[in-house]
Amino acid sequence: MKVAVIEPGSILGVLGGGQLGAMFTLAACRLGYRVAVWDPDPEAPAHLVATHSFPVPFNDPHILERFARLVSVVTYEWENIPAELCRALEQQMPVRPSSAVLSVIQDRLEQKGFLASNGFPVPRFAGLTVPDQLARTVREVGYPALCKTATAGYDGKGQWRIPRESDVPSVERALVESARPGMRWIVESLVPFERELSILVVRGADGQSCSYPLVENEHEEGILRITRVPAPGSSAMAERAAALACQVVDRLEGVGVFCLELFQLPGGELLINEVAPRPHNSGHYTLDVCSVSQFEQQVRAICGMPLGEVRLLSPAVMVNLIGDDAAMFMKKDADCRTLLDIPGAVLHLYGKREMRPRRKMGHVTFLGETLDQALDRAKQFRRTMRD
Ligand code: AMP
Repeated sequence: MKVAVIEPGSILGVLGGGQLGAMFTLAACRLGYRVAVWDPDPEAPAHLVATHSFPVPFNDPHILERFARLVSVVTYEWENIPAELCRALEQQMPVRPSSAVLSVIQDRLEQKGFLASNGFPVPRFAGLTVPDQLARTVREVGYPALCKTATAGYDGKGQWRIPRESDVPSVERALVESARPGMRWIVESLVPFERELSILVVRGADGQSCSYPLVENEHEEGILRITRVPAPGSSAMAERAAALACQVVDRLEGVGVFCLELFQLPGGELLINEVAPRPHNSGHYTLDVCSVSQFEQQVRAICGMPLGEVRLLSPAVMVNLIGDDAAMFMKKDADCRTLLDIPGAVLHLYGKREMRPRRKMGHVTFLGETLDQALDRAKQFRRTMRD
């Protein structure tokens, strides 16, 4: 299929201005594009690097018209932007991934329903529209379970564990307290996974796709902490994950970069936790150890250019800098030599002025001759961070 190419020199639109939007913008500028960033928060990192900046609410109709006149294609850097805005923009230009894909993905119940009805492996789940259905819904799924808001949750926010029946009343109270009109929840079985994995897939408008290596992730309090690249384990497992990921994105008819978050069960079976319709925190290593990063692929895919060859140039370990972790770089008089002295360390800071608990402030990629060497370097850094 021949796809119209959006030429370098054009202006690309991105909805959302966090670090993923900033990294997309930098990748686009390197390929000769200009970028318009729309994010209501004037302090959002991508505004610092954008060619055109729209720090206004997403429901402003005048800005919609101005933004639409300016840009040749639109993408987004996270799934919690309004789908109706994407639908309105789609009347005038391509939105990639499409608003239809966004609508399926941004609601956990829709997403799990789509995956399950297409035969893809997911944890047992059931939907909930009023908190007093909680006990009945958990019985359908089985204990232990996890309840999540259907929309707008991320990094473990809006999630409640329900290990046993006696935990239901307190979670029910929490749902009542946080409920807003029309809110829905999903109850999932709490998976006894052996490890968490993820994999990036890029799919062009012509339907061609490619995947990145399977990686292993460690979370703390629901937030990604460490990514190991490539995931230790058999190549058969990596091939299975890649085939699964490509099939899911094909079935979605998605155009852009996608990430599948996976649980590996003790027997080796893979379950899909969730699909992100955008570059992913666990793919940041691609900036430092891949010939073409996930952000450059996002630019190529949405502009109808050929996708880049995926080539891993070195094993790596990525460590997120969360909240206070960033103090050693951001506070006057703090000593950041502990990190910068470690060989193979590549530092990324996102330019967020305020350090807040649980906030992603930056990350460090540690390169090594082997994954073990990269891991040792990451461990050395984490020890000095804790001291
Ligand atoms: P999420 O926001 O859905 O990606 O969840 C954040 C983290 O919570 C995941 O990376 C897992 O560590 C954990 N988690 C989410 N869903 C489940 C589940 N069904 N079973 C076990 N752990 C889960």
